[in-house]
Amino acid sequence: MRDFTLSSYKNLLHSFLQAGYKITSFEQYLDSRPVGKVLVLRHDVDLRPYNSVATAEIEHSLGITASYYFRIVKASNVPDAIRRIVSLGHEIGYHYEDMAICNGDKVKAISNFEANLEYFRSFYPVRTICMHGVPTNRYDGRDLWRDSNGYKNQGGRYDYRSYGIIGEPYFGINFNSVFYLTDTGCRWDGFRVSLRDKVPQQDEWVRKGWVYHSSWDIARAVKAAEPPFDGAVMMTTHPQRWTDQSLPWLKEQSVQRVKNIIKRAMIWAGGL
Ligand SMILES: [Zn+2]
Repeated sequence: MRDFTLSSYKNLLHSFLQAGYKITSFEQYLDSRPVGKVLVLRHDVDLRPYNSVATAEIEHSLGITASYYFRIVKASNVPDAIRRIVSLGHEIGYHYEDMAICNGDKVKAISNFEANLEYFRSFYPVRTICMHGVPTNRYDGRDLWRDSNGYKNQGGRYDYRSYGIIGEPYFGINFNSVFYLTDTGCRWDGFRVSLRDKVPQQDEWVRKGWVYHSSWDIARAVKAAEPPFDGAVMMTTHPQRWTDQSLPWLKEQSVQRVKNIIKRAMIWAGGL
């Protein structure tokens, strides 16, 4: 059976539900901070938003609420798709990349951010945001919220809380107590080739053997309730990678393979 299809995705969600996991959006998680087996389900809608409508429908049929982060660019920002996902009861967040769009000009970037946030709030009362990492761009989106010494700003225009935002996963989650999974590079152990979608705890997790390649590997570990699947998990997927259609699936697989080679070379060269 092929991985990264809608059926393998459904199977993965089933494994969490059957193991007694409570699956929540990021917003719900921050509001109630549940303890024990909780899965925070996050989707970065980088491209092809109708693929996200498909995962949103699957989740809805299973009674699950997840978070969908939309970019402002045309490839992601399709009002009809956003509305459909909202109508299925999911959370919408802003997948911001204003530093990259404004070439690192923080003053322009914050105005851009404010306008874009307002735009997305016309669909949903957005309360969480999440950075879109552009590996080939030299600007880190999170710098919008940091002072020149790299510390998180407290209050004022460069503190996202000033906009009624309650969380940004890269700042608001303690990854010492929440295990992180991402499908970067069309595999679950792609953090090895990821430049920005990674957390500092990953080296320790590798030492503990908490490395999973396929969705079946995760499902097996979840079923066995072996650590880290005995506690909190955040899982990020990019729904554009998940499809049942053979041709787009093959295309996504080969594009990701080439990208992984390039990213590995960039890490090796120490360029970013
Ligand atoms: Zn993204």
